[in-house]
Amino acid sequence: MEIGTSAVTLVCDLPEEKDTKIKRSRKAFLIWVGAVVGAVGFVIATGLLADQVFRLRKQIDSVNGELFEIRFDQQVQRRNEENSVCLTKECILSAATLMESMDESADPCDDFYQFACGGWQKKNVIPHGHEGISQFSILDGRIDRFIKEFFLEYNTELDSKAINNTRDMYDACLDLNAVEELGITPLVKILDSFGQWPMTVSNWTEDRFDWRKASASIRNTFGVGFLFQVSNFVDVNDTDLSVIYVDQPSLGVPSFILRENNLTSAHVMDYFTFISAVALTVRDAIGGGAYDIDIVKDIEDMISFHIDLANIMTLNEHRSDWNLSRIYNPFSLDELQMWTDSANATNSMGQINWYEHLTDIYSIADVSINPDEKIVVTEPEYLKKLVQLLDQTSPRVIANFIHWRLVLENIYDLNDELMIMADAFDEAIYGPFPIPSREDWCLERVHVVMGFAIGAKYVEDSFDPQTKVDMKEMILNLKMAFSSLVEDSNWMDKETKINALEKAAAMKEYIGYPDWITNRTTLELAYHGINTKQDTHFDNFQSAKRFMVKNNLRFLRFRTNRDNLWISFPAVVNAFYYPMLNSITFPAGILQPPFYGKGRLAASNYGAIGAVIGHEITHGFDDEGYKTDKKGHEISWWTNHTLTEFYKKKQCIIDQYSNYTLLELKETDAFHVNGSNTQGENIADNGGLREAFRAYQNYVARNGPEKRLPGLEHYTPEQIFFLSFATVECSNESPESLEDQVLFGVHTPSRYRVIGPLSNSDDFIQHFKCPTSSP
Ligand SMILES: [Zn+2]
Repeated sequence: MEIGTSAVTLVCDLPEEKDTKIKRSRKAFLIWVGAVVGAVGFVIATGLLADQVFRLRKQIDSVNGELFEIRFDQQVQRRNEENSVCLTKECILSAATLMESMDESADPCDDFYQFACGGWQKKNVIPHGHEGISQFSILDGRIDRFIKEFFLEYNTELDSKAINNTRDMYDACLDLNAVEELGITPLVKILDSFGQWPMTVSNWTEDRFDWRKASASIRNTFGVGFLFQVSNFVDVNDTDLSVIYVDQPSLGVPSFILRENNLTSAHVMDYFTFISAVALTVRDAIGGGAYDIDIVKDIEDMISFHIDLANIMTLNEHRSDWNLSRIYNPFSLDELQMWTDSANATNSMGQINWYEHLTDIYSIADVSINPDEKIVVTEPEYLKKLVQLLDQTSPRVIANFIHWRLVLENIYDLNDELMIMADAFDEAIYGPFPIPSREDWCLERVHVVMGFAIGAKYVEDSFDPQTKVDMKEMILNLKMAFSSLVEDSNWMDKETKINALEKAAAMKEYIGYPDWITNRTTLELAYHGINTKQDTHFDNFQSAKRFMVKNNLRFLRFRTNRDNLWISFPAVVNAFYYPMLNSITFPAGILQPPFYGKGRLAASNYGAIGAVIGHEITHGFDDEGYKTDKKGHEISWWTNHTLTEFYKKKQCIIDQYSNYTLLELKETDAFHVNGSNTQGENIADNGGLREAFRAYQNYVARNGPEKRLPGLEHYTPEQIFFLSFATVECSNESPESLEDQVLFGVHTPSRYRVIGPLSNSDDFIQHFKCPTSSP
């Protein structure tokens, strides 16, 4: 993704980005967020970390003190309230939801997932054309419906310009007549601006094209690089500042089809068919006059180059474990120049003047490149090999490749004819997949670029600001619970404990939405420069992209503002831990039932959103999070002894989950859960549950025992806690989707996201009076 590309690993709960650029599946929303935040100004972070630790420790102490003082009063109160029932509207609703979800015929000690979700699974069938249904997807659908409704309203001066922009963009995206009327004209204009796509015209000459100038211009217009990727983001070794990263590019198509290394393989033939269909369409539309036979030759040469490019890149599998010592290679500008010069390019195609190239890119944002600029190169060997490859490649092939990649980059904003060609290619590669409706597609496209404007409308209508206050308190309680568990642990030594406590205390929280989006002036300022009309779909997105890219480039010279680095838009149902900034984020979209509900039992809130908060906190200490310190720097803060114990515990989790099986996938490779791929999430799930229950116990100690829920009087509030923990995971999935998740996902299937942590929880076993081998 755009932010720092591969140098930046975002540990979070986002669906995995698949190895493709063009399949029309749901993509992460984070691409442009940093850029937008930058537009509203910058406040230098003043994290007084030591002070925070001190305050947190004092809070822990005071909770402990309080526990002692209130114990006697509570014994009396407890006897009076123990069996009373909460009859508020919120309690009745929450009880009804839990009852609907449960299957009380199941034995909670035997199969808690069935016990908590059996009813839900029966009632919630997978909608036609979908791969599954879950609590997350239901909330997603609800938010999408809200957004579509406000998109259908007329523009009004009562709304900010940014919000009216979103309606324009959505309307234009849906206006298929206007899109069809323009046809491929917008694409041709782009291709012409780079000297025309050689294979589509009969009179192309080399002097029309300089790949360096074209690449710089494409980078600062579209935000992408096709031969290498230049980006700027927080410097992982000094997270207060940003730095330029140079990385290998995204290939634009799945790498596996190119690695087959053979022009006659089935997938490469599919790719050939796709390119040739598009090239013939462009040629005919512009009357370019290129002969079919020449186009075939050009495509073959270009695919060969694409294959060569794929083969000099480091495989994604080798980049998935974030090995900083391998990918963090700081160069000065001079050193980088010497490095690529040492590849000994013999003709001009392989030569790159880095100062000139970076200056070309950053000039659009009025950022000048310093002679002593620091540049982090993630794959230095790749750059050298690229220079050698370019040196041996004709200008025509490079020009064909860059133009083709421009086509791929823009193809989904074009007319039906080209979109059908792209979808057909995807289907040939991946097999049939559900294509989203135009409405859903347009909504997502607009959300990706205008997410804070949409978020402003969403929170204005659907979010109670008090939730922010309540969440702040819960996060504090979860951090305290985490810290007390660290203090209680018998496998960490004192030195490591202090470092862990400091890291937890320094963890920055982002709740709901940034306040600036509720202020019309700052919201308009954030999107100032985007021009939209209701019938110019292609141009609207070009305008938004250019604006975002420019903003993002300006970030290079900003100090990191830890108070305003939102990595998600508000109307998103998810939660995140971001290791580089040691931050946790809970967008407004997830702060609603079944995760959180104002006026519900604290047992329900702590069991659901409380465990999510704990989950994100624990990510700071999982198999990846343990590598970074309180400021997100990759520094080992563990003593050797404690680290050895940590590895043992990690292995225990891997073994436990690897033993789980999915009966419905018995005949497949996905029969067993992949305990290794999912270890980080499993550590977070286990930690999250434990911390949330400790926090809930502290809550009860401070506030007294809670009432029971109507209709569920036979369950204690503690049992309601565990039920609420489980019900947020209820889901139904098609076998194909489940198999995909087991083979490639980082999350364990939901059944074991419930059963795994509960079977490790003494608290659960005690409160459900289960034998120790449960559930
Ligand atoms: Zn997670």
